Amino acid sequence: MGLTLGLSDKGRWIEDHGVIHNMMFDTETKWKYSFKTTQNKTEWWDNGVLPLWITAQRQGRKTASFHYPGGGAKYDGEAVQRALVESYNHPDDNETEWRENIDIVMNWFTQEDFDFVTLYYGEPDNVGHRVGPETEERRVMIRQIDRTVGYLVEAIERHGLAEHLNVIITSDHGMTTVKKRPNVTEILLTNYIKFRDLVKFDIVDYGGFGMLLPIPGQEEAAYQALKDAHPHLHVFKKEDFPERFHFAKHKRVLPIVMFGDSGYNLNGQLIIYFNKGDHGFDNDLLEMKTIFRAFGPDFKKNHLAEPFDSIHIYPLMCRILGITPEPHNGSLAVTWDMLLEASDQQAGEKAQRAAILRNTGIGLGVVIGLIAIVFVSSVAHTAVRRKKE
Ligand SMILES: [Zn+2]
Repeated sequence: MGLTLGLSDKGRWIEDHGVIHNMMFDTETKWKYSFKTTQNKTEWWDNGVLPLWITAQRQGRKTASFHYPGGGAKYDGEAVQRALVESYNHPDDNETEWRENIDIVMNWFTQEDFDFVTLYYGEPDNVGHRVGPETEERRVMIRQIDRTVGYLVEAIERHGLAEHLNVIITSDHGMTTVKKRPNVTEILLTNYIKFRDLVKFDIVDYGGFGMLLPIPGQEEAAYQALKDAHPHLHVFKKEDFPERFHFAKHKRVLPIVMFGDSGYNLNGQLIIYFNKGDHGFDNDLLEMKTIFRAFGPDFKKNHLAEPFDSIHIYPLMCRILGITPEPHNGSLAVTWDMLLEASDQQAGEKAQRAAILRNTGIGLGVVIGLIAIVFVSSVAHTAVRRKKE
């Protein structure tokens, strides 16, 4: 992924899949909705890029989404075969419910023959925002997640799925402590520009990243006013935004794109944002990294992978499901070594050749940074059932 904003299960860069922010927005109507309030509204999600559920279903697999963002929408006219959608105010941190959800998913595999299920938890994102990542409350939540992973492993055994189920545990971003006055001078954009005169629509006040749509004719004035305004604020015209983020080419990205240095949130007209932890900062930063763990019959045991970009998980999941991927920006060659079949040299060369062919003209993803467990945000459990042979 480019910036550290949100989830995608499409194996594409942000500018290619078009899910550019946690807030869904429409610059014409000026509507802004959190992704949680658009869950069942297909018009906000279906933009021509197919998520893995639909691709797998079209190739005969049975798929489900448990609270996973985007699972409630239809794509190209097709719904996910089973989707449980989280209500807007669903509690994120109920450990008993987390365990119940795992058991429900296990039953889908054993009793209903599902092949692919995505399961999502909103922690430790929630507590990280509320109290900050470097806190005891956050550590307590990490221990709760650790117990839940233990419960998951035990539930897989209990349901007799250990030989059949591959599990990937990952998330979509890290978390850092928000820097506040009097320790620093916070970024408050209204100190540098008059919103009323220059800005038609904005996406600011959501962490370290923001965008502006200037009033027509005021683009240059808004850019000039902001570009050297604050030593920890980085401001770009959309067309000059650094390529490495794979972000700005999408048509939804607004003309002025900004991000703060680590911990410097982008406040608009008031400092109304009480979050003590946040993300949306540069994904080169260690504290924005996420975790990746995988186990099951198709994975090597105790294998330590080199750091890789999240886009490469998609072709890995397609391989395990035995399906042909949609066009994507990832490469199976990057994650191939995790699989047991990589030990089979001939099969390995074949898969790598196929992966390279599929990616011709798209360009391989960049492998970056390190992984920091304590900064993991919303945890997604992606359980992939081994293809029956
Ligand atoms: Zn968050």
